[in-house]
Amino acid sequence: MGIISGKEYIDRINKLHSDIWIDGEKVKGNISEHPAFRGVMKSQAKLYDIQCDSSIQDIMTFTSSKTGNQIGTSYLEPKTKEDLEKRRLMIQTWAKSSLGMMGRSPDYMNTSLMAVSAAADVFSSIDPEFVKNLRRFYEEACEKDYSFTHTFINPQTNRSVFHMEDDDNIITAKIIDRKKDGIIIHGARLLATQGGITDELIVFPAGGNFYNKDYAFAFSIPSNTKGLTFLCRESFAYRKSTFDHPLSSRFEEMDTIIVFNNVHVPRERIFMSESIDCANKMYAETSFYPLVLHQVISRQVVKTESLLGVAQALVDTIKIGEYQHVQGKISEIIVGLESMKALLLASETQAKMDKWGTMAPAIYPLYSAINLYPHLYPRFTEILQLLGASGLVSIPTERDFASEKRVDLDQYLQAANANSLDRVKLFRLAWDLSMSAFGSRQTLYERFFFGDPIRLAGDLYRGYDRTELTNRVKEFLNN
Ligand SMILES: Cc1cc2nc3c(=O)[nH]c(=O)nc-3n(C[C@H](O)[C@H](O)[C@H](O)COP(=O)(O)OP(=O)(O)OC[C@H]3O[C@@H](n4cnc5c(N)ncnc54)[C@H](O)[C@@H]3O)c2cc1C
Repeated sequence: MGIISGKEYIDRINKLHSDIWIDGEKVKGNISEHPAFRGVMKSQAKLYDIQCDSSIQDIMTFTSSKTGNQIGTSYLEPKTKEDLEKRRLMIQTWAKSSLGMMGRSPDYMNTSLMAVSAAADVFSSIDPEFVKNLRRFYEEACEKDYSFTHTFINPQTNRSVFHMEDDDNIITAKIIDRKKDGIIIHGARLLATQGGITDELIVFPAGGNFYNKDYAFAFSIPSNTKGLTFLCRESFAYRKSTFDHPLSSRFEEMDTIIVFNNVHVPRERIFMSESIDCANKMYAETSFYPLVLHQVISRQVVKTESLLGVAQALVDTIKIGEYQHVQGKISEIIVGLESMKALLLASETQAKMDKWGTMAPAIYPLYSAINLYPHLYPRFTEILQLLGASGLVSIPTERDFASEKRVDLDQYLQAANANSLDRVKLFRLAWDLSMSAFGSRQTLYERFFFGDPIRLAGDLYRGYDRTELTNRVKEFLNN
């Protein structure tokens, strides 16, 4: 089969009728028509249509050596540096379509699945069945062009170092029973962005509970699996109008709590279970981090470009570019953008074949980027607020412009370089990026996108080899 169209994506998700709850009600009927999901599903469908565009097919797809079908490049296991470049171009083509706002577009989890499958042999000494399951499922996902939501995190109940959950009061999802044909999972996990609007849910081991093998598992199950529920937060897609809410009306991805109510995970869908060794090796001994971070940073570069574009358009519209501090603030975004781009490209030029035969981008440039971005992004949105000032709240709606007050709006909201309508359109975009519920979530998203920034810094501290550098200093002192 191979790549699917946007329509096929929508039809497939509508047919699932997964158990999704929002604002006290179960989602009924076609989810693609529900106000909380219609915008983002339309945008996701557009990604699949872009993937089918024959004029960019050499970037967006590759030919399966097994079936001859065209497969989405986000599933491509890179074997060369050129493959990494192709992956970046594909990821950025998709990212441009949402100005980089859709963090969990399908390429994110397709890359994660590819990264673990490429190194599936890491599990061979523990259970060859895990290897078979992972490889087979990866092939299936490529051929059917599955989309995934995922959960890597345990509920935020008690994060103290020595906390252990009471066996009789299950909160965190765990294995509660074993059957010949699978395992039974009960409890909850966080935090599935795009929960309910993907074909499947991937569950990977979460950190923190590795003392107990009941919590060590990885699998993928269809979103409509019996006993699986997605509990949504309030939707930030407040209005349909793309004028009023240019971003949230299109890219509101939704975040969901996952509840497993005695969910049966079939044996053939288990990538690993009841092995603390496997759970640790899955991240530590594969190229999961470099490959997934390469996807993340590629998108973040596009998002930064978009932000710079919005900031500069704002500066031009009200003519504030002559002030030095304004130039300084725009330059700050440029420095951030160029730093992220340089780190991304450095990861590709320093890429090496890993022991599983995959071309893995260099990890430390990417780790530096993912440590940097949680600091950069909140500052970027602050810069938008500092440059936009009252313009960010002088933002009448589409209906205001259709009213008899249009004449006042045209007179008093005109700008040096734009008529009132174009000016408000732009300022509403800057507001949705930096101030609305959607915008605030985006800031939180980039702070915690790849985990807790505090612990990410700890990983860098522990992993980065400084021996040669300290030796150089010691040698200098001793001579
Ligand atoms: C908008 C958004 C979307 C997300 N989407 C997804 C998704 O699609 N899939 C998914 O799996 N996850 C998702 N996440 C979850 C994300 O991965 C986590 O937020 C992140 O890993 C941090 O974990 P936490 O939220 O449980 O924070 P916590 O771990 O509870 O941290 C809370 C605070 O306590 C501190 N803290 C806690 N433990 C320690 C410790 N051991 N050492 C030092 N400090 C500590 C932290 O530094 C932080 O300040 C999303 C998060 C957000 C905000």
